[in-house]
Amino acid sequence: MKYYSTRDVSRKSFDSAYVIKKGLASDSGLFVPESVPSITKDEILSLCEKTYPERAAYVLSKFLTDYTYDELLSDCTQAYCEDSFPGGAAPLNKINDNIYSLELWHGPTAAFKDMALQIMPRLLSRALVKTGEENTALILVATSGDTGKAALEGYKDVDRVKIMVFYPVDGVSKVQKLQMATQTGSNVNVCAIKGNFDDAQNGVKKIFADDTAKEKLLEGGYILSSANSINWGRLAPQIVYYISAYCDLLAKGDIKFGDTINVCVPTGNFGNIFAAYIAKLMGLPIEKLICASNANNVLTDFLRTGTYDRNRDFHLTMSPSMDILISSNLERLLFFTAGAEKTAAYMKQLNTDGKYTVDNEIKKLIDKNFIGYFADEVETAATLSEFYNDYGYLADTHTSVALSCAQKYLNDSGDTRKIVVASTASPYKFAADVYKSITSKDASADTGALDDLSILTGTEITYPLRNLAQRKINFDKVIDKDDMLTEVYRFM
Ligand SMILES: *Cc1c(COP(=O)(O)O)cnc(C)c1O
Repeated sequence: MKYYSTRDVSRKSFDSAYVIKKGLASDSGLFVPESVPSITKDEILSLCEKTYPERAAYVLSKFLTDYTYDELLSDCTQAYCEDSFPGGAAPLNKINDNIYSLELWHGPTAAFKDMALQIMPRLLSRALVKTGEENTALILVATSGDTGKAALEGYKDVDRVKIMVFYPVDGVSKVQKLQMATQTGSNVNVCAIKGNFDDAQNGVKKIFADDTAKEKLLEGGYILSSANSINWGRLAPQIVYYISAYCDLLAKGDIKFGDTINVCVPTGNFGNIFAAYIAKLMGLPIEKLICASNANNVLTDFLRTGTYDRNRDFHLTMSPSMDILISSNLERLLFFTAGAEKTAAYMKQLNTDGKYTVDNEIKKLIDKNFIGYFADEVETAATLSEFYNDYGYLADTHTSVALSCAQKYLNDSGDTRKIVVASTASPYKFAADVYKSITSKDASADTGALDDLSILTGTEITYPLRNLAQRKINFDKVIDKDDMLTEVYRFM
């Protein structure tokens, strides 16, 4: 299986290991597979008998053809082991007759990013060997919370990789800051910067664009790499859990083979829902992909009108991981429906005007598979409370956005197919807003609301978030935003 860039009409192709090492194509396009491999009925049935790591290795082996099945199985077995995902990697939880929650947050940082970031570092480590790379990969991450911690946990103690995370000193939640400051591992470094998230992000971008710095790093035996969500190595592992969820529905006897299901995904960068679309293209019986947004509803408007327009107010919501106005992975969907030439043109327009409108035929193709809904803050809180009170299901704020959108779709369409809702974070990760949605009261500030939520609901705090305050602080450095490169050199 070869890959090429979404913006390259000449279709210069690359192997999967190269694509994982490189991250972004040199024309700034995203890497996509030359074709989508299929999955047959017999294959799906045989996966039903298998464990999650086996399912993952099998599906990944169709896309990462320059990795052997044994390599993938070994990596998946370690990535999705019981220690990292107690009770299983992607359990499917029935909420009511129509709606199932696919819980993707049972990993080491309690958010769905773990599903990709536990496996991708292992794939990168092998990619370095496969591409004959002699240097160590230095991963630089600017984070507003979730990605940084998930990347640290994924890359810690991985061979031939070092990772350095920068976060804005006052721009992450108390829980998130503690999660990063108490990070362990021999190849990790965490630094707070005086500034906001954009300062951290710009600082990292500046280093990536600095040829002198790159030369100096290379002399020291390092190449720069990123853990960004546009890397195919992060997307491919996400295809697996949609197939796995279908197997689990079959195994429970809740559907018969061939029954179609709908999938609803709380969306930010369009990575997770795009993975579901790939699963559908492979042949998994999915009817509609319901794209759920929060008040930053740029995707809802795009799916309804065909116009993507990022010129709008940015809202800070209680589902911060979806507070995004440029959904990078949408470029991959454009490529699949419109081809490289048009995709490059749309992306250019987005860059210059902040908006573009797709042709009518393209919109029709997208409409066949996708439908967009959004939930505002009031609806998100009301849905969270309703699902807790009516079904005893405790969802986080991001998942609640999707639950609200799934219900809107049900009411509008009368479609009775089962809806699998991707549940992307533990309710404890956003405990303060979850607590407030249910009780209409503020939780006590000093505990980060974790204990309040636990007492209120009689549930246990998700394991990675327990005793956070008692853990040893390993990283407490706060630096000036102009000193990021100096700090990188010091870390080498
Ligand atoms: C990253 C994230 C999302 C958005 O996923 P995309 O792949 O960017 O669409 C949703 N919920 C949570 C909790 C996240 O961390």
